[in-house]
Amino acid sequence: MYEKPQISDAPCFSCGQPAEVHYSWPWGEHGYSCNGCVPHLRSTAVRLGREVEITALFAPPAAAPTERQELFSLTQEFQLKIDRTAMLEAQLAQRDHEISGLTSTIRELQAALGGPSQV
Ligand SMILES: [Zn+2]
Repeated sequence: MYEKPQISDAPCFSCGQPAEVHYSWPWGEHGYSCNGCVPHLRSTAVRLGREVEITALFAPPAAAPTERQELFSLTQEFQLKIDRTAMLEAQLAQRDHEISGLTSTIRELQAALGGPSQV
């Protein structure tokens, strides 16, 4: 999905275009620049032997949160299935328990009646 880049109100220090980054020098001077003039800032930094700190004014398009949300809901869905499976297993174990209880009751009754115990 393509998102139109956001435009800043601040003009570039060099060409006057809408700025896309903020820069600051170690001695405190700072301002705004467009991406096109960043190389100019960097070469100035190299020439001066100093570091220029450049920060994007706008965060990159938020594609990641959507993916993360999708993963999150998938994870939740799986967790629900796991929980449901565990619940069904518990019910099954309960039924097994009931069946074996009933089976021994039947055997006891058959034994009491003197009949065959074929359950
Ligand atoms: Zn510029």
